[in-house]
Amino acid sequence: MKKKKISPYKIKFLSSLVITTTIIFLELILMNSVMTKMKENAEKQYFESCTQVLEGYSRAVYFYLESYMTSLDSVNTKKLFLTHDKDKIMHWLTFNKPLLHEDFYSIFFVDFSTKKCYISHGITIDLEKDENFFRPEAFNGVDYHISDIHKSKYLDEPVIFIEIPVYADDGTLEGILGGAIELHNLEHITEQIKIGSGNNIYLLDKADHFLVAPTPDMIGTKYSNAEPNTIKTEPFPLPKDSPIGTLNIYTSNGTTVPLLYRKLPVSNWTMALSFHSEGLEKITKRLQKFKIIIILISVSSMFILLVIERYVLKHFYKKQQIESIYDPLTSLITRQRFETEAARWMKHYPKTKFMLIESDIRGFKFINQNYGEEEADKIIQFYSSLLRKMTLKYKGLIAHGYADHFYSFMKVKNVRRSMRLFKEGMEEISVDIRNYKIPFFPKFGITFLRPESRKNVTIKELIGQVSFAKSTIKDNFLEPYAIYNSRLLDRINELHFMENNMESALTNQEFFVMYQPKILLANDKVVGAEALVRWKTSEGKILPPDKFIPVFERNGFITKLDFYVYDKVFQFLERELKAGNPIVPISVNMSRNHNKPEKFMQEFTSIFKKYNIPASLIQVELLERSVMNNNTLKDITDRLHKEGFSVAMDDFGSGESSLNMLTKVPVDTLKFDKDFLRSSTKESGLMDEKSEKFIRSLIDLSKNLEKQTIFEGVETEAQRDFLKAAECDQVQGYFYSKPLSEEDFIEFLKTHI
Ligand code: C2E
Ligand code: CA
Ligand code: CA
Repeated sequence: MKKKKISPYKIKFLSSLVITTTIIFLELILMNSVMTKMKENAEKQYFESCTQVLEGYSRAVYFYLESYMTSLDSVNTKKLFLTHDKDKIMHWLTFNKPLLHEDFYSIFFVDFSTKKCYISHGITIDLEKDENFFRPEAFNGVDYHISDIHKSKYLDEPVIFIEIPVYADDGTLEGILGGAIELHNLEHITEQIKIGSGNNIYLLDKADHFLVAPTPDMIGTKYSNAEPNTIKTEPFPLPKDSPIGTLNIYTSNGTTVPLLYRKLPVSNWTMALSFHSEGLEKITKRLQKFKIIIILISVSSMFILLVIERYVLKHFYKKQQIESIYDPLTSLITRQRFETEAARWMKHYPKTKFMLIESDIRGFKFINQNYGEEEADKIIQFYSSLLRKMTLKYKGLIAHGYADHFYSFMKVKNVRRSMRLFKEGMEEISVDIRNYKIPFFPKFGITFLRPESRKNVTIKELIGQVSFAKSTIKDNFLEPYAIYNSRLLDRINELHFMENNMESALTNQEFFVMYQPKILLANDKVVGAEALVRWKTSEGKILPPDKFIPVFERNGFITKLDFYVYDKVFQFLERELKAGNPIVPISVNMSRNHNKPEKFMQEFTSIFKKYNIPASLIQVELLERSVMNNNTLKDITDRLHKEGFSVAMDDFGSGESSLNMLTKVPVDTLKFDKDFLRSSTKESGLMDEKSEKFIRSLIDLSKNLEKQTIFEGVETEAQRDFLKAAECDQVQGYFYSKPLSEEDFIEFLKTHI
């Protein structure tokens, strides 16, 4: 089953959705607890403010009660009361009533010894009949007494009494001086100080009768559902919370009213304030509203954020997608995109021929280093525009890959025609390139995909083919393209085979040496031989060195192989010497990879010392075109001479600095490259005269420098005769002998020495 892939953009969005929701959720929890705290605080504040209002009322009422008491206290004619003289007392009361507190409806004196109560209205009550007035126990330990509500038959309205004790000099309680206050006065007091209209004030006496109440019919009635136990009496100032209690009262219309109450000092009355549950409800409602707004804000901001995020992510994703599709430098599609598109084409048109071209610029690294990145980028852009023009003719795909690599893919009808078109296109763009300020040279690898040879070839493999084809292009500027073919594929396979098997081939002794004789022209005798390596693979195929040596030179294995060959050659010489067979000096090749003379010498001599042969039997062929420069070549030559070996310069004349090298590197022999003869020989087999002259002068030059001369690749008698006439010392070539196996070489020696 194919798993559905979720786009990274979706994953990002979902994860941020989860994060945002979590944050909002936490935010709501936090907000809720903050709101609860705020509500608690608001309630507390509301309660505190109610408490303060209640306290204000209490103080006011108490203040009035106190003023009543002090006005009675101010009377200093107690002696008059002690006379118990009815007339005098009555007279005093009548006379002084208006002088005392204006709220006093009447003032009175209760005389305990006569058991009479004198009232300022001129009434005298006999206490023996009316026990209500005789309350000496009320003064036990207190200086004032404030009575509960009192309904007297002598009065129109209920009153309360403010009373102070009157003592004889010996401290006995002789009577009570008191004043009656009509209840409406109390109401008046609270009315006066009332703040706003919200709260209702209740005042209850000790026995829980309403003294002040919002409705007149409540006055004087007893509050039945009070909970006396919860009412605490505390003196002023009120410590917070404690003296205050709350309770619900049930009103006549059936509703419950929450009350905040406190006890008043001295009177032991209860002051109560109906607190407006509306106030609290308002706060709660406000907070609720606030909460909803915050929730709405958070949720909507979450959505806004998500929308923004979605938009931004989408934008970035698109940008990213565009970047993965289009290369920002050239605006061509990327290689990645190219591969998917080309693969799609291949799948869609199974019966179509396709052409794939990879191109790059020769020495682009060099351009990059020399002209700078900016110029290099400009070249890429310029070149991409040319290629685009070229590819558009085919309605093909064109992509820019890494650095200077470009890929084109197109449907074609006919290979020849497309190649013609390609060459025409190449001509056209080379005109444009020539006019560009910096010279650069492109090269192309081409492959064709034929329907009949398709066999599940992937686009990656096709790209592999073109890259390989391109890599086979030599430095020759006249050859700017290479077409992939199966021969090239065979070479790839061969390359892989060689690289994968070289190590095991060495241990399995698959490499062996052949010897090609060198002939002294003066007498046609063999005077030496060159050791040339071959590879007999495990499958029995013999690979020539031209196949594997360049590969080993690239991967470095050649140095290992060199020493292996030396060992085989020394071994052969020792064996032949011991056997008493005729022998000649053997030249061995030193690959171009060796770069440290000292290291080379060390290994070379250590192998050499394993065998009992004279150094004079060994010549080393150096390559003019090696990684070593003239100084190191001189160094190695000197070191080899010191050990008694002779040195030849191989492929002399194929390099560029041959003449320069001649004077610098003290080799014994110059081994002229086979190209000299090949290029000097005409189709007829005769030698070209000019070339003959040139070769002659080279031989003369060598002789003047006291160097032995040897020519490679002597294939014909004419060549041999010419060289002999030119006084060349030795020759090596098929004319005398091809490279020979050990046995054949031994036989050759026997007959040619
Ligand atoms: P080279 O060192 O120039 O060796 C001479 C090559 O010319 C040999 O090819 C030889 O067979 C070939 N040759 C000789 N006479 C004629 C002729 O008359 N006509 C033609 N057309 N060719 C002729 P070979 O053996 O295939 O070796 C090719 C190259 O491989 C050698 O060129 C040498 O550079 C390298 N090579 C061979 N053996 C070794 C080795 O043991 N070590 C290293 N480092 N390189 C080796
Ligand atoms: Ca050689
Ligand atoms: Ca050579």
